[in-house]
Amino acid sequence: MAPLEERKAPHAGHVFGPVPSKRLGQSLGVDLLPMKSCTWNCIYCQLGRTKEYAVERREFFPPAEILSEIQEALDSGRHIDWITFVGSGETMLYRGLGDLIAEVKALTPIPVAVITNGSLFHLDEVRRELLRADAVLPSLNAGSEELHQKISRPAPGFTLERHLEGLRAFRRVYKGKLWVEVMLLGGVNDSEEALRDIALALRQVGPDMVHLVIPTRPSTEKDVRLPEPERIERAVRLFDEVAPVVHPVKGSMDLRGAPDLLEAVSSITLRHPVQVRELQSALEECFPDEPGKAESRLRELFESGRFRLIEQAGEAYWTSREE
Ligand code: SF4
Repeated sequence: MAPLEERKAPHAGHVFGPVPSKRLGQSLGVDLLPMKSCTWNCIYCQLGRTKEYAVERREFFPPAEILSEIQEALDSGRHIDWITFVGSGETMLYRGLGDLIAEVKALTPIPVAVITNGSLFHLDEVRRELLRADAVLPSLNAGSEELHQKISRPAPGFTLERHLEGLRAFRRVYKGKLWVEVMLLGGVNDSEEALRDIALALRQVGPDMVHLVIPTRPSTEKDVRLPEPERIERAVRLFDEVAPVVHPVKGSMDLRGAPDLLEAVSSITLRHPVQVRELQSALEECFPDEPGKAESRLRELFESGRFRLIEQAGEAYWTSREE
């Protein structure tokens, strides 16, 4: 799954944020897994390589512990648009997520989203548990088995056929928002043929929206690169015939509602590096009528001393100095 903007530092508690994001507004993230537990080993993963696949569902942490952290965040009075379950890996590996969602819903009317790679949707229990979520965001990065294996590098048996069967079965019963996320990788799944295959697969699933994302954060694999703008436009056009597409170019960060920019950017960099271009673009959206203001705010933020500038594959990022 990607782009994982709702993720957190590995040693923090279960709950982090709220984090400003375009897709889910002020999103309170809830991480249910020990780092890193996943059925896949995506080439674009920001959590590092999957050393050993996890495929068995388990209650990794007591629900009471997680719920008490959620309650604490709700009591803090901060504005929260979504409560978002994610994992340091594949979220649905947490057994009993359905009950946890029900408990959260008893605490608050705030809607609940689940970010998942979707690889366990072939299991009846997983589909049943997810029915309680208001939005489910599974991944679909390929429309051919070859590219599915190349990009997601799943555990044995996690074929594209099984993945699509699971997504289709879930769509048939799920009445909430199904927002399928497609990671577009330059030179990997952005050819005409690959895009057409993905569009066909999306059509079979029938999402309410397609979230097209690009690898704006460093991955451990060196050959992961951004697609050319022309390929992004082509993907948007093709997928838009299936469902409305969230365009990735401006990135996923939305700082417009942030009461304190420095705190907002710090909270994001605590969990993952932030691409400077994406940050600049988010700041420009904050000050649309003030030329030069985004640059000066960017400079001020950096002068706070809280960030470190790093470079990967020719791209500049900020990371937190507090890690
Ligand atoms: S599905 Fe697993 S390997 Fe892929 S990006 Fe998400 S956490 Fe990383």
